Amino acid sequence: MLRCAWCMKKISNNKPVFGLSVKFAEGIDYTESEGTIMQIGLRTRNTSVPMIVTARESEAKLQGTDGIFALCSEKCGKKMKDTLNKELAIFKEFKDIVLQ
Ligand SMILES: [Zn+2]
Repeated sequence: MLRCAWCMKKISNNKPVFGLSVKFAEGIDYTESEGTIMQIGLRTRNTSVPMIVTARESEAKLQGTDGIFALCSEKCGKKMKDTLNKELAIFKEFKDIVLQ
């Protein structure tokens, strides 16, 4: 079961899941974690949060998505985006997506 990357609440399977698809900055390489969930340290928040690293050859990866944050609500999504805006050392862009 997925957990919200912002508030850590469990996300139930029968509700739509908001997500943020992210692209890593140049030089960031998480190939060893492809297809798994890893903890990403956020400097500006002083904690680490779970991120799904897209698998090689997956549809998301082919569309340029390196990682996905699952989020329980738009409110958490907004806070996550505010934080990602300050984490430019790791991420160079991100956009809203809906996981199912
Ligand atoms: Zn949340």
